[in-house]
Amino acid sequence: MDIQEWEQRHTEAFHNVKEALPYLDGMFVAYNSNIDAIKHLSEEDLSRLIGFFKEAEIQERVETYPREINEPLDFMARLLISMREGKAAEIPAHTSDTHEWLKEHLGFDYARMGGQAGIISNLLSRLELKKVVAYVPWLSEEQAEYFVAADNLLHPKIEDGKVILKHPTEAFKPGIESKVNWILEYSKDLEVSCNGSNFKVPRDNRLIISSRPKWIRLEMDREVYEHLDTIFPIDGAMLSGYQMIKEEYEDGSTYKDYVEKSVKVIEKLKALNPELRIHVELTSIQDRIIRKAILTEIVAKHVHSLGLDTVEVANALNVLGHEELSYSVIRKEENGITSLYQGAVQLLKDLSLERVHVHSLGFYICILAKGHPLTLKEHRDSLLFSSTLAAAKAVSGEIENLEEVEAGLKVPISGKGIEDLENFKLYCTGRNLCTPDEFEYGYIYGADHDAVIIPSKVVEKPKATVGIGDAISAGAFAAMIARMKQKQERE
Ligand code: ADP
Repeated sequence: MDIQEWEQRHTEAFHNVKEALPYLDGMFVAYNSNIDAIKHLSEEDLSRLIGFFKEAEIQERVETYPREINEPLDFMARLLISMREGKAAEIPAHTSDTHEWLKEHLGFDYARMGGQAGIISNLLSRLELKKVVAYVPWLSEEQAEYFVAADNLLHPKIEDGKVILKHPTEAFKPGIESKVNWILEYSKDLEVSCNGSNFKVPRDNRLIISSRPKWIRLEMDREVYEHLDTIFPIDGAMLSGYQMIKEEYEDGSTYKDYVEKSVKVIEKLKALNPELRIHVELTSIQDRIIRKAILTEIVAKHVHSLGLDTVEVANALNVLGHEELSYSVIRKEENGITSLYQGAVQLLKDLSLERVHVHSLGFYICILAKGHPLTLKEHRDSLLFSSTLAAAKAVSGEIENLEEVEAGLKVPISGKGIEDLENFKLYCTGRNLCTPDEFEYGYIYGADHDAVIIPSKVVEKPKATVGIGDAISAGAFAAMIARMKQKQERE
């Protein structure tokens, strides 16, 4: 593949999408946001933390391997386990006690917006869309501060039984707790000594304490639902956070109730604008029952577009009964990209989607149902735009405006990505999915779908990588619907 050609296409795509974005009236983004509190642990921090407990008690708790954090000792035990193995872990805490304790006894280096809907709202606002309407059912006063201070970012607020749109800092629900996730990073070779046992941390990694307050529900306030027309005009909706649905709740309700409510919101959005496109951004969902329910009951038949990474493709295939394909996606061998492509096609079919966008390090694949109003070139522009966006975000950590996105054009295309695509080319041409020339353009023609595949830009030493996947999906989806509107208005 000709790298120079692809660099040129990135530049051209950026300008095409930039021109199309003003055609969008607005985007709706729901449901999940939280605050990420980040602390990089030094040796002093660690010995201070250990000093708050009796070392023998820490050791005893380590042996019980706590699955959730109910008290500070659980946290201490899981931190040591994670450090001993150098293995990332994410453990839930159901009350805010741990948060209070950590704030008082450790503190954080910095805090930032977390959660897919929070990250996507901020990003779209910075892409200078006319209007981004965020909706977070548990928007607290503290959480609201993490939304960018921009006029184009709004949130529904119930006032005297009416719904109006205001900036999140004027639309929060007073008196509710914030959902704060703690991200405790540690470095390789840190020396740990506790209760007579000493070890060196084998590699850089992190422990995440994820806040799961019991009262949190993934649903829309009744008033907002009833007056949903107030958020319009909007052309698209990006929905995420369904992984927070639980199988059962203390009040006797179950996931079925929340699945039903979620579908009703989607149906209402579509009824208010039949042209509206809906994207669901997937993330890892541990609970298989919930994962399957989200895919087969919320996504299938109701939404148009799905965004996910390679691990999530494998996980989705697994609950949909395609175990073998799922394993071959996960194994990532020589033909990993072929399995990934086949897996994404399977998802498009099983879930009756219009579009499946998979991002991987070095390349993106987008599978499209036949008959989409955009050409493959226009879809390719959307993906290339999101590659530039991802690169800009990896370079600077945060993007302030479209001008900063443009700086992503300077980041080179991944050589590894090009190599992966070269391997995939043999499969595609061998199966007559495209000619070698068509593959050079990134276009694939299946019997019942089309696909676009691009090499992407990768930053060698990224400043931060959190939320890049969300940025890729949001950038490409916004670019696609902007292009659709631009086309419509020109016709
Ligand atoms: P997250 O949920 O943190 O966004 P994902 O796994 O969903 O994580 O997405 C990560 C994606 O970000 C990868 O698929 C890759 O395309 C992109 N990415 C990761 N690191 C870089 C980097 N250094 N430069 C450019 N893109 C990156």
